[in-house]
Amino acid sequence: MSLENKVIITAALTGAMTPKEMNPSIPLTPEEIAEDAYRSWKAGAAVVHLHMRDDKGMGTMDKEKFKKTIDLIKERTDCDVVINCTTSGDNKAGYEERMAHLSYVKPEMASYDAGSFNWMPFGIFDNSPQFLEQLGLKMKELGVKPELEIFDSGFMNIVKYYVKKEVLETPCHYQFVLGVLGGMEASVKNLQFLHDMLPEGATWSAFGLGRQHLPIMYTTLALGGHIRVGLEDNVYYSHGKLATNVSLVERAARVVREFGKEPATPDEARQILGIKRK
Ligand code: ZN
Repeated sequence: MSLENKVIITAALTGAMTPKEMNPSIPLTPEEIAEDAYRSWKAGAAVVHLHMRDDKGMGTMDKEKFKKTIDLIKERTDCDVVINCTTSGDNKAGYEERMAHLSYVKPEMASYDAGSFNWMPFGIFDNSPQFLEQLGLKMKELGVKPELEIFDSGFMNIVKYYVKKEVLETPCHYQFVLGVLGGMEASVKNLQFLHDMLPEGATWSAFGLGRQHLPIMYTTLALGGHIRVGLEDNVYYSHGKLATNVSLVERAARVVREFGKEPATPDEARQILGIKRK
């Protein structure tokens, strides 16, 4: 099957905020996160998107935790999953702290939140022009593939600006994040609208938060995108039934196959995204 028929499944395992009280399967420690990364890869995920939690379960940018988790994943020598680290794992962290792990653990990918907005009701999601320039240049220097997280349509113009300034390299990879209160609502119409703004040659993925997870996943497949699932975005499998990372990845892999495509392997994902394996 050609690469055009491969769908990259990204598993977003834990996020920065959701407490274990909401779903006891949310992994918090490096051991738990590495275990879920491995199992999600076995179930069909090509990429794992990582956040870290501190000892109280709150989001942290502690680079030692990133290192420990990634070392634990790499200890499983059969597992070649693409590692994607957040750069927005703690709302109180300064810009330096949000980038420190990149040179320390050198992930293949990292998120790049291409703009600021009011993340209701928590506070300002601060991705200033100064930060985005520094972050883009840092990722370029280290050869980390940016996953451009798009929460609103204006972010597409911010990306254009940094492409023009050669802070971001083309072809870019976009991740449409729909359903955060303060960003765009998770609707089929909004996804179609964002999709139509994509430049030639771009790769893209999308997900909807919470109950909008499924309509966005099916629409993404119909529009030819890649998909993201995981407890960071959605703690329920269906109404009243709690999910696990593995159950969400397994369903995504099934849906992809029923659609007539195949989940991409990590190496196929690297080819699609233009990542040189480290
Ligand atoms: Zn994230």
